[in-house]
Amino acid sequence: MKIGFFYISPPPDSTLYTGMNQGVAILVSIIKKMGFSPDFRIIYGDAEIDSIGKDYDLAFISTFSGMADVAEKLSSDLKKRSPKTYIVMGGVHATVAPFDAIKTEGIDAIVVGEGEFAIQEILKKFKNRDFSHIPGIFLKDRNYFNPPAFINLNDIPFPDREIFNQKSILHKYGSIVGAEFMAGRGCPYSCTYCINATLNDLYKRKHIRLKSPDYLISEIRDFISRYGKPQLLGFHDDIFPFDTDWLDEFLTLYKKHINIPFWANTRVGIINKKLLKRYKETGCIRLHLGVETANEKLRKEILKRDMTNEQIIDTFRMIKDHGIKTLAFNMFGIPYETEETILETISLLKIIKPFRTIISLFTPFPGTELYNICKREGWEFDYHIRNFYSGIAPLTQPSISNERLLYYFKNAIGMIYG
Ligand code: SF4
Repeated sequence: MKIGFFYISPPPDSTLYTGMNQGVAILVSIIKKMGFSPDFRIIYGDAEIDSIGKDYDLAFISTFSGMADVAEKLSSDLKKRSPKTYIVMGGVHATVAPFDAIKTEGIDAIVVGEGEFAIQEILKKFKNRDFSHIPGIFLKDRNYFNPPAFINLNDIPFPDREIFNQKSILHKYGSIVGAEFMAGRGCPYSCTYCINATLNDLYKRKHIRLKSPDYLISEIRDFISRYGKPQLLGFHDDIFPFDTDWLDEFLTLYKKHINIPFWANTRVGIINKKLLKRYKETGCIRLHLGVETANEKLRKEILKRDMTNEQIIDTFRMIKDHGIKTLAFNMFGIPYETEETILETISLLKIIKPFRTIISLFTPFPGTELYNICKREGWEFDYHIRNFYSGIAPLTQPSISNERLLYYFKNAIGMIYG
């Protein structure tokens, strides 16, 4: 059986790290462990679509919403070239916007939620196309999907990093990103611009899970045995686990067996001096936190992020006092943003002066509460990532002109650090 696995990725760009996708690398690892040799391709656009073959029996396409237009071009091309190819789409877009994703031209089914179990069942039952009971499956000729599976993270294989050319990622980003791992999945918060709110609804919050500390240590050791000891290691979890028992056990093992400088994502409100002391002793060199906006009304009422500017300032100061660098994520152009609120955010960033500041243009992605607000308001928007490369504002709203929005987007870093 000839299997294609196509991962739709934003094109490599100096300002956007595209790296590896852990979920996709795990799925490919599972397919290989079942004895198949999938033809894995990273698709950025038309050039890669034109270069792929046409004789697949089964094709998997993984995409997030920002690249859903490229995924549709691929699936419709594949189907036209070879009508017998059975095409299954999965990934973030299929999970957060299943009723949009199922309409994608050319596809036969989508998988909603985590695909590790579904992909094994599809392969086992492919001969008879007996897919109706597979968890998470949404068949094109139905108007409902099965509840998604809920997998134990200690039962899945390590990601197949070769498909993303791990060596070249390390060569290019070894000192900034380093070797990437995930301790678990999910986030207990429900910010309105983030897919975690949708996932919390879909899985009834049960999707928040951790690998055991032993599993994660063996995954890191396996990495080192293949690629050598990296100079930096990073935990890509949306929020690095703050379960104190888990952390205590993991950090003790990490110091003893791994002992490599690391970075992690965290959040204002969960950081305290005791935790920072522990992070510092274990080798943490950088913590990433979302600031997003300095306007407390927008933050609380629109983004549903329950924190004050005072807490943000204290947290950044506390982290710096422990000798750990900070990175702040921010968005310009959130619903009801004005020039004044952008200037407030710039002023706050001038006070906290993160080691690195990342500013994005807010994009309303399907499946989020803010997407529904933008729709309800009747604002014009486009969530496809091609806008990022063309310098176009994804959302047009009356409270700020796109011209002023793009002005601040281009000049804010100079205003903060200049
Ligand atoms: S804290 Fe971060 S990861 Fe969690 S819901 Fe909010 S934006 Fe998403």
